[in-house]
Amino acid sequence: MAIENKAPGKDIAPDDLVSKFPLAAKRSPDHVSRFTVAGVEFGGPLVPVMAGPNTVENEAMIVATARAVKAAGGHMLRGGAFKPLTFPYRGPKYFETREQGLGWLAKAKAETGLPVITEVMEIEKIAAVAEVADILQIGTRNMQNYPLLTAVAKAGKPVMLKRGYGASLRDWLGAAEYVLVEGNPHVILCERGVVAPHTHRSSSRFVLDLQVVPAAKEVTHLPVMTDPSHATFWRPWVKPMALASVAAGADGIMLEVHPDPANAAVDPLQPVDFADFASLMDDMDRVARAVGRRIKG
Ligand code: PEP
Ligand code: MN
Repeated sequence: MAIENKAPGKDIAPDDLVSKFPLAAKRSPDHVSRFTVAGVEFGGPLVPVMAGPNTVENEAMIVATARAVKAAGGHMLRGGAFKPLTFPYRGPKYFETREQGLGWLAKAKAETGLPVITEVMEIEKIAAVAEVADILQIGTRNMQNYPLLTAVAKAGKPVMLKRGYGASLRDWLGAAEYVLVEGNPHVILCERGVVAPHTHRSSSRFVLDLQVVPAAKEVTHLPVMTDPSHATFWRPWVKPMALASVAAGADGIMLEVHPDPANAAVDPLQPVDFADFASLMDDMDRVARAVGRRIKG
């Protein structure tokens, strides 16, 4: 594939596709990875939606959310049991539920049949998380935790690799290569906002790099999705950025959905409620169809 950028060291150089990330690199313009995870196809016409709370807070809320996600046509349930929380102090409004949360995710999966994606941060927890998760999520803070990537690659599950919020496309594809080189071909890339000098709101330091969706797809065959919730950190902007992501060719969307967004234990400014999620699914489906994809049906 012809890459115009010839400047050595200016992010991706043509030789990188051969020598630095040959497994992640696109070999021809129509080289696109398509694979199915628990009945959900990635890389094809479907744009899978992974939705759920930031934190698996308790059994009732995750089961209720899973039901709402499924009823609205969502494809997977998300929710953090092991959470990368920015501050070490825990309280009633800031906590992780760890092994107990994994158990509740398993319950929600059993009740609804929705496959589960959840984060893994520690090598020692990979086996436990992989028992419940259909996709193992690597968070933005761990994108370049190479020992973790190598270990996660061997868990026998697809890996969703969030882009580090300061990572270049080259860094991101290098991290994906760490999973691919272990013989695990099922890597999904997720843009979740990058640190930018002008972030429009004081509550967030991230901007959704929508342009990285077509940029990544120029050089890699891997599915590229976005997470408008973490990128915007601001509920009113989630819908426009989700619709824009679908229009930009995203191969999946991660969204935070909560039964009572204002009282979410973590990041209460970003989740949408069940009704808004259902109408967003309809709107995203309309945009998807305008670009030859689909979200529902
Ligand atoms: C999350 O998805 O819950 C999360 C912590 O995301 P990120 O790693 O993008 O901050
Ligand atoms: Mn979150």
